Amino acid sequence: MTAAYRRTTPYSFTRFDLFETCPAAFRFKYIDKVPETPSRPLLLGSFIHEVLEHYNKHLYGNHVQTDVTSLPLIARRLFYAKPTGLTGNDLAEVEAILTRYAGSHILNLNTYAGSEELMRWDIDDQRTVWCKVDELHIDGDIALINDFKTDHQLRTRAEVGRDMQLKIYCWMAKQHYPQVNRFAVALDFVRHGVVLRVPAKEGTFLELDAVADADTYIRGMIQLIEAERKWEPKPGAGCAWCAYIDRCPAIRDTSFGSGRVVIASDAEAAAAANQLALLDAQSKRLKDGLKVWCNAAGTVESNGLAWGFHLTPSLRIDDVPGFIHAAREAGHDVSELLAISTDDLRRATRRDAGLEAIADDWLVDHSYTSFRSVKTKGGDDE
Ligand code: SF4
Repeated sequence: MTAAYRRTTPYSFTRFDLFETCPAAFRFKYIDKVPETPSRPLLLGSFIHEVLEHYNKHLYGNHVQTDVTSLPLIARRLFYAKPTGLTGNDLAEVEAILTRYAGSHILNLNTYAGSEELMRWDIDDQRTVWCKVDELHIDGDIALINDFKTDHQLRTRAEVGRDMQLKIYCWMAKQHYPQVNRFAVALDFVRHGVVLRVPAKEGTFLELDAVADADTYIRGMIQLIEAERKWEPKPGAGCAWCAYIDRCPAIRDTSFGSGRVVIASDAEAAAAANQLALLDAQSKRLKDGLKVWCNAAGTVESNGLAWGFHLTPSLRIDDVPGFIHAAREAGHDVSELLAISTDDLRRATRRDAGLEAIADDWLVDHSYTSFRSVKTKGGDDE
């Protein structure tokens, strides 16, 4: 693989991020331009962004700050205007998400500068960086950036604060609107109606020096990409959603013979971790395909294993105090049956400091280790 990235091709955070995640996937997507089939979450996310763009433009054009009833109509109009790759069920999901969004958001017409706002920065006469901001407000020397997230997983405020993409948005706003010197970014998790603002307090802002490392990051990434010639695969969490797994050169190296696998060095351990990431990704794709088959055709049996949708009986007592009372009345001691999960306890003590003090005296640490992988880098949609 000796291809090089053409420096006249525009850069963006999405490209930097993919290069960092896996140079081989970057090459497939941006140099070889191998067509990819977008995943359902990506299609859903793109459609929600498109509807919100049209909704904000509708509000601005009609000089109103909110118009809850128009959102489902806009969603339907866009859905039926062209193929989206989504189903009628997806449309219902989008309508539910966006109706909740419209019920809790108003558009500040005085500061609104645009939706899906394209900003470009010409670093020199050959290199350009682009970014698209979901919703941008300019208020004097302040840029307010709203980024819509359709992820199911919420992020912590600390993760949001470290997010280089958001710093790039701020830095690009500075290049595009030179009068801007202060910034606030809001991540709007539209599925949950949760907005994480950085900085957290209304009326406070990030100063220019807090986002200036975006400049160093952008220039550094450009240098790395332009110097890259090997485009080595980098198996990891990204393999699970990689569109190029079929042609990934690392897949060829996932054979490890039979018998016990002995790992004797850091390098072998890293290679084994890489292979597991790839095998997990392939296993997930196979299971997804088999699920679709079994959903329509029923269970499939092979070599003593029956794959399919097997019912797991699950009985639960929702009225626990009522059950305890009834059992005691009948002369039974059920205390040994009752267990309080770590999650339940954490939730309850978070709500009640008095309970936390009591729990401290009763808690017994049953922590254990299990062999598994955990993500070290958060995912995102475009
Ligand atoms: S499958 Fe994994 S290692 Fe291979 S190209 Fe995709 S992300 Fe990279």
